This record gives sequence, structure tokens and C-alpha cells, in this order.
Amino acid sequence: MTHSSNLTPVVRLGMVNAYLVREEDGLTLVDTGIAGSRKAILAAAARLGAPITRIVLTHAHGDHIGSLDAMARELPGVEVAIGARDARLLTKDKTPDPGEPADARYRGAYSGAKTTPTVLLAPGDRVGSLEVHAAPGHTPGQIALLDVRDRTLICGDAYSTLGGVATSAKPNPRFPLPALATWHRPTALASAIALRALDPARLAPGHGKVVEAPGAAMDRAIATAS
Ligand SMILES: [Zn+2]
Repeated sequence: MTHSSNLTPVVRLGMVNAYLVREEDGLTLVDTGIAGSRKAILAAAARLGAPITRIVLTHAHGDHIGSLDAMARELPGVEVAIGARDARLLTKDKTPDPGEPADARYRGAYSGAKTTPTVLLAPGDRVGSLEVHAAPGHTPGQIALLDVRDRTLICGDAYSTLGGVATSAKPNPRFPLPALATWHRPTALASAIALRALDPARLAPGHGKVVEAPGAAMDRAIATAS
């Protein structure tokens, strides 16, 4: 797998990615995998020889926050950041925000967590070198993270690359899970289009391998789902 020197994927069971993003003051952990991923994440950080100083969550699904509590216990005082809308889902508060689509439905596992986020993110915020972009649809408040140094886009489940690059707006027959767990597919498609417009140099999804120069594949995925 080729990837940026700033980005280290931590793959758990070949299915769910967490990422370690190198910053001058340490590592940012993006997503925490399923429960039981703590040792694999810590081993990857140890190989990089730097402390984890921040945790950022792309969205509140259980396979992305499963080891949040274990990691937060391991790292007292660590910054924990998530989009404000999905932060409510960490406490299993499923009340809608005003103006959300009436045909949206919570799907997939919202397992919740005991850890209270220390930072609630909004589009345009920065977490180290990562710029926060809205990516709702798969969950109501999913965020994507663009590394402004090299335009790596960590996209959560807005796209997956397992079984080919696909949006979460339409099931990919080879890996339908992200679409089947999606809150509102039309919103997910709009987010996929918005993220494509960022012209990322590298796509780092929640499921599947990191893809270099993903533009054409993202275009095809959008066309497939449109
Ligand atoms: Zn998800």
C-alpha cells in the first residue's frame, strides 16, 4: 500500500480503518475501530515513535468509535473531537435537528460511548493539519478531514474502497454495508459530490485501501449512485 508519509492506516481485521496522522507535536488518531482495537492502534503508534495527542471521530457508528473509551482511558487528557451533530449520538440521543429530512432513518449500530468529547467540530475548523468538512448522509453529522499539507482526504464512510470505490448512497454489491447503514442516501450523494470537488490527492476511507489520485474513481462512483 502506498501512502503519504503523514498517514499510517491501522487496519483491524481487514475491514475497518483507523488512521494515524503525523503532526509535529505527535499523532492524531482518526477513528478507533471496533472494540478490541486498542492494542493494534498502540502498536502502530509505537512503531511511529510518537505519542497520540488527539483523537478525531468521523462519525458515531460503533465500528468507528468501538475503542474510543479504551483509548481515552489509555491516554488521560487526550483531546477527543467529533462533529457536534454526531456527538449527540455518542450518548444515544437520537432526537433530530430542525430541518432534517423526514425520510431519514438511523441505520447501523450506534453503540454509544462513555467518553465525553472535549471538542465539538464544525466545518472549517482545523485539527492540526486536518481541515474539517461536512459530510452528512451516512450519519447525520459525519465529517471528512482534508490534510492541507498533501490533500489526503480521510472521508469516513462517505466513500468506501472495499470492492471498488463507491459512495454510501447506493449499495455496492461487493460491499453493501456502508450504504445499508446510511441515514439518508440523497444527502450522502450530495456529500460525495462536495468531497469530490475538493479534488483530493488521496482517498483514505473507513473501509478498504487508501487510493491515490482518486478523482476518476470518485466520478464513476457518483455516476453509479446518481
Ligand atoms: Zn459508518
